[in-house]
Amino acid sequence: MAKTESLNEAPTPRHRSEALDAILGTPFKVLDDGFVRVVDYLGADESIVQAARVSYGAGTKKSREDRGLIRYLVRHAHTTPLEMCELKLHVRVPMDCWRQWIRHRTANVNEYSTRYSIAIDGSQTTPPERWRKQSADNKQGSEGWLDPEIGRRLTEGERELQDMSRRVYAERLDLGVAREQARKDLPLSTYTEAYWKVDLHNLLHFLWLRMDPHAQAEIREYANVIGHEIVARWVPMAWEAFKDYRLGALAVSRLEVELIRLLASRDDKGLLDFVTAEELVRARNGIPVLAGELKEFLGKLGRFGLEDRLSPLLSRPEIISRLPA
Ligand SMILES: Cc1cc2nc3c(=O)[nH]c(=O)nc-3n(C[C@H](O)[C@H](O)[C@H](O)COP(=O)(O)OP(=O)(O)OC[C@H]3O[C@@H](n4cnc5c(N)ncnc54)[C@H](O)[C@@H]3O)c2cc1C
Repeated sequence: MAKTESLNEAPTPRHRSEALDAILGTPFKVLDDGFVRVVDYLGADESIVQAARVSYGAGTKKSREDRGLIRYLVRHAHTTPLEMCELKLHVRVPMDCWRQWIRHRTANVNEYSTRYSIAIDGSQTTPPERWRKQSADNKQGSEGWLDPEIGRRLTEGERELQDMSRRVYAERLDLGVAREQARKDLPLSTYTEAYWKVDLHNLLHFLWLRMDPHAQAEIREYANVIGHEIVARWVPMAWEAFKDYRLGALAVSRLEVELIRLLASRDDKGLLDFVTAEELVRARNGIPVLAGELKEFLGKLGRFGLEDRLSPLLSRPEIISRLPA
């Protein structure tokens, strides 16, 4: 085989992250009794750059800064160089939260076995002032807090339930029931532990979904700790690019591009024709009812401080009378 120029280069030393080395094994507390700690890692920002240069050629070394290259890769979803970095975490998570976490299939997992060992004697508890109310417009979400007076009752009920399930579990074990069966009535608040290994590309995807305000508050806490405490230290350039081009970015659909164009050109008739043709709004009892997609668009306009541009227009009586019922 002919020797290539890159094979003649001196061997590359292993890339390390001093900032991550400094916290290796240190648990970051999450929720009341959970944690995340780094067990091991492979690669650093330099490993992303190194892999990318194989595809772009050595010449780019001179013309592009590492940071610029990583930002380019993340911006254009050229993600395989990110897969050169891997992170192994040890996590302690309540089972309801773990159930969401484990849906991310692209990680390698080894979980504490409650068939083999006695279940971890720890359950996530909720202080009286931390009971969240059901969200009115997001069936999967929460908003605001219940009165702490009511919360006290709920927290007391939680304690009784957790104590009882633990007592029943312990009794089953004492009477010789197999651990695999004795566990069946343990609550989802019971903590589990796992080793979770994932490459940076899939980790950023996990963080993008689970740091999002639509994710449940508990898993969001874990994702925020992993992002801000671990990834930010480990691969600061990739983390910065992720924040700029994924986490803080906004996807705009074809319909939304057209809406923005019509709003910018102040073409009210064109806008009304468009939202009607695309069934984005209807009239019910003289009130405009926006499709979910259009409500989300208003949220996006809010990011630009432009939320007041569309709603008043759709509320005009002469427009409402033209909307389909
Ligand atoms: C806010 C929120 C609400 C949710 N609600 C629900 C719910 O109500 N019910 C429910 O069941 N789940 C729900 N989920 C889970 C969700 O549907 C995903 O299963 C989960 O977020 C994992 O995402 P993923 O498949 O992209 O990640 P991963 O499993 O890590 O996969 C990463 C990527 O790899 C690719 N990939 C992986 N496996 C395959 C495959 N078999 N075929 C093709 N491509 C693949 C995909 O591109 C995928 O995006 C919810 C998630 C979020 C964030």
